[in-house]
Amino acid sequence: MKQTDEADSRGYYRRMQSAIEELLILKGVFSGADVEREVKAMDSRNPGRGAKMVARAWVDPAYKARALHNGSAAAEELGFAVGPLRLIVLEDTPRVHNVIVCTLCSCYPRMLLGLPPEWYKSSNYRSRVVREPRTVLQEFGTRIPDDVEIRVHDSTADMRYMVLPLRPAGTEGLDEEQLAGLVTRDSLIGVAMAKAAAQA
Ligand code: FE
Repeated sequence: MKQTDEADSRGYYRRMQSAIEELLILKGVFSGADVEREVKAMDSRNPGRGAKMVARAWVDPAYKARALHNGSAAAEELGFAVGPLRLIVLEDTPRVHNVIVCTLCSCYPRMLLGLPPEWYKSSNYRSRVVREPRTVLQEFGTRIPDDVEIRVHDSTADMRYMVLPLRPAGTEGLDEEQLAGLVTRDSLIGVAMAKAAAQA
């Protein structure tokens, strides 16, 4: 009885996913161990990867140039598999601030940032950030000066974007690892800036 209650509380899509997973395992399409391995691999993909790329780009101009030219190759260079997707790194400058979205669904550079936050998938963010990016960023606590252009980049099924935020002032003495610690998930999406003070 208890089990039935629990099953029901999982919701329609969770139950459908479990049922399909069970069927595919029964049919021998993949094994339970395959699923476990994939889940582990998924967990290892987190914003720390994107942060490492950014910190490297901040300290190594040649790497930055390679990353802007071919984001996928630059990710692979640090050992992060990108697969068949094309990764485009967008450089923030004092004149241009970049922000990413997928207006159609929720495409996200998962190979470098892991799973997207809930708000990124919301229709609210997806529809509004293209129309009124300055206001949306302000709601995230990020005020972009009026003389800075905001460019919104819409992801597609075979292409992903990641923002290369501006290196914060006052970080000249930091090493690459300390710099990576300043790069948050939100700054890689473009709804926040990288800040000099260590982030929680
Ligand atoms: Fe999408």
